[in-house]
Amino acid sequence: MKTINPQNLLRRVSRQVNVGSVAIGGQAPISVQSMTNTDTRDKKATLKQILKLAESGCEIVRLAVPDREAAVNLAYFTQNSPVPLVADIHFDYRLALIAIEAGIAKLRINPGNIGESSRVKLLAVKAKERGIPIRIGVNAGSLEKELLTKYSGPTPEAMVASALRHIKLLEAADFTDIVISLKASSVPATIAAYQSLAGQCPYPLHIGITEAGTWYKGSIRSAVGLGILLWQGIGDTLRVSLTGDPVREVETGREILQSLGLRSFGATVVSCPTCGRCQVNLEELSQAVETMAAKIDKPLKIAVMGCAVNGPGEAREADLGVAGGKGEFLIFRKGEIIKKVPESEVLAVLEEELGKII
Ligand code: SF4
Repeated sequence: MKTINPQNLLRRVSRQVNVGSVAIGGQAPISVQSMTNTDTRDKKATLKQILKLAESGCEIVRLAVPDREAAVNLAYFTQNSPVPLVADIHFDYRLALIAIEAGIAKLRINPGNIGESSRVKLLAVKAKERGIPIRIGVNAGSLEKELLTKYSGPTPEAMVASALRHIKLLEAADFTDIVISLKASSVPATIAAYQSLAGQCPYPLHIGITEAGTWYKGSIRSAVGLGILLWQGIGDTLRVSLTGDPVREVETGREILQSLGLRSFGATVVSCPTCGRCQVNLEELSQAVETMAAKIDKPLKIAVMGCAVNGPGEAREADLGVAGGKGEFLIFRKGEIIKKVPESEVLAVLEEELGKII
């Protein structure tokens, strides 16, 4: 059997662009983005959420800019944000000009939606002067009418045609610091669209399943869609779209990348599903260990296993592991049994041993 090694994954070659301090494309690490869901006109609430997202590991934060008041606030956010910010603008190129002046690190705007070519040209010149990339964000829900007619609906072909049309407009304005996304709520349609566009342009791809749903279903749908694309080497930055607290988008995005071995964000906890052999409260312990591991930024593996059937085997593979018995646990460190402790003490002992490893 062939060994699958994520390091051997062939990543699609793309042009690199810089979003402030974060590179997208080329050999740059696949970055995790999210978007605030506060009212951008509310300075206090929006900055609070930007800071919370950055603290959770979000590397690029996008903000909706629906009007002038929101656009004017961008300067305050760029001055106070620890991570690069992206202004998400629809139709009004004047808001994009304000965003550029405010020090935004990237624009998301579709050039085909802002009217005359002189406006596209002006925007391209201003963005180029400041080294700001533009993301073309094609969404199946807002495709051009004639493409919907031509392709009989929001098909992957229609999405790709829309992206190529927007790309042409920017290239005609001599602008090539482009990132593209092609999002649909259908997982197969999204995959097909990205697969098709990947071979038709050199630009980095921002991947995501749009309107994926609430945390549970949305995370699964995103993991399936993005996992397949990433495994095919497609995707330079990602956003998981979930209804609710955007911090969960960051946690899910990071987990998707870490589970494929494409990024390492710290400790990995593996825990068994338990079965009739388990005689300890493993669910409670696993959750406590996950909380503990979330604070560790080293690529350690911690195994939490319910019994001595598969437990010691898995625990031996880990930097630190436990395998349950009857109201007690064996503790393994780097493959060696180091202790047997009562269930009531296992968490404290694990914490102590982790401290020694770190
Ligand atoms: S490790 Fe033990 S308790 Fe956990 S699933 Fe396997 S056999 Fe069951």
